[in-house]
Amino acid sequence: MKKKVIVASHNSGKVREIKSLLKPYSFSIQSASDLKIKEPRETGKNFVENAILKAKFVSKKSGCIALADDSGLCVNLLNGEPGIYSARWAGKDKDFKLAIKKIEKKLIKIDPHSNFKYRSHFCCALALSFPNGRTISFQGKVYGQLQFPAKGLNGFGYDPIFVPNGYKKTFGEMNYSYKERISHRQKAFKKLKKYLLKI
Ligand code: IMP
Repeated sequence: MKKKVIVASHNSGKVREIKSLLKPYSFSIQSASDLKIKEPRETGKNFVENAILKAKFVSKKSGCIALADDSGLCVNLLNGEPGIYSARWAGKDKDFKLAIKKIEKKLIKIDPHSNFKYRSHFCCALALSFPNGRTISFQGKVYGQLQFPAKGLNGFGYDPIFVPNGYKKTFGEMNYSYKERISHRQKAFKKLKKYLLKI
């Protein structure tokens, strides 16, 4: 029988990407939304702490192995903001156009002469938690610049303003298979891989 892994997220963009990354492994995958498990409050001080608390919470509630992702966009000129608050900047309506406008406004105010290119990175912390409480975590980052106006309809969240170093297109303009090869999530996944093969 296939082992069950619960993706500890209600973010459909993230769940889609994690399901795709888990494809090579023979797991039966469900999300916290499928099981109607609420998300815990994210009280951690960094991405890793938040990923761990989400994975532990969902593993405890479901009795299954849980995989959580805590991720976000860190902008150099904004001292790493929105960072762990990336989802919250979009408000309760999850309006990322609004969150992107907020970032653009702040950046233009601080440095209007950057030619609309601002250094930043995406960070992803993954935590895998077992029903016995054992939990492991890994981080991945992808560096690039923010570019305004937003471009592209693919992906989710801040993808339409993020251009990874060495590329000319935003994540929002790339096919997912392309983003998957270079993303912060994929980099964290690469580190997690050997544990997935053991479970
Ligand atoms: P959280 O990890 O649930 O707190 O939310 C992370 C937030 O960071 C998401 O809602 C997105 O706004 C943003 N984010 C994380 N990863 C990505 C990505 O791959 N592309 C675009 N935005 C992302």
